[in-house]
Amino acid sequence: MAFNVTILTIFPEMFPGFLDYSLVGKALKEKIWNLEVVNIRSFAKDKHSTVDDVPYGGGAGMVMRPDVVGDAVDHALSTHKNTKFICMTPSGMKFNHKIAEELIECSHITILCGRFEGIDQRIIDAYTPYELSIGDYILSGGEPAAMVVLDACIRLLPGVVNNSDSITEESFSYNGGILEYPQYTRPEQWKGYKVPEILLSGNHKKISDWRKEKSHVITKKRRSELLSGDDK
Ligand code: SAH
Repeated sequence: MAFNVTILTIFPEMFPGFLDYSLVGKALKEKIWNLEVVNIRSFAKDKHSTVDDVPYGGGAGMVMRPDVVGDAVDHALSTHKNTKFICMTPSGMKFNHKIAEELIECSHITILCGRFEGIDQRIIDAYTPYELSIGDYILSGGEPAAMVVLDACIRLLPGVVNNSDSITEESFSYNGGILEYPQYTRPEQWKGYKVPEILLSGNHKKISDWRKEKSHVITKKRRSELLSGDDK
């Protein structure tokens, strides 16, 4: 079954953007995943198509109006009854590989992208979306964040990445979810740097052990929280 996505945005022309390239773009053409983009602005109530207004209580910037955004959300949720409704926000749960694996189990997801200072809180209170962040920094809009989430999800769908090993051997899935070992390709020598001898040995067992060891060392050094209790 395909992975179906509806995006709510005031910049529909940003999509599919980089999701139209490489394996993810090919998967879009092959309908392994499908994209629908809804322009929030088309739900505006006035002739200027206003989607934002000044914040109650004062302060910088503009806030997205709940009546306009709400109508766009109602439209998406009534069209796709079983959708998982997600809102991109810096105050959401921090996105990771595990969440990507969970999201691709959904047959349909709807992603609301904020702009300006964000979205009126009543949208969150009324629809209780799954609030997702892609990291501790502020982007100027939810669109690039939604694309990051989608890219990470779509490459996990069956048939998108040809060799399924390239998914399972990667950081955060490899060997129980730790970092990847270093990779090398031709030429064998470059600027005096050599490819580690063991990788040229043809001994699969030794290569596999070496990779596990390297992976463990780099994870311990950089991201020890990813290691399970005894390995730390
Ligand atoms: N005033 C807000 C930031 C608004 S940024 C705050 O301080 O939290 C405008 C929009 O960009 C947000 O509504 C959200 O949809 C998106 N956005 C910005 N940074 C993000 C991040 N790290 N993760 C996910 N979405 C983000």
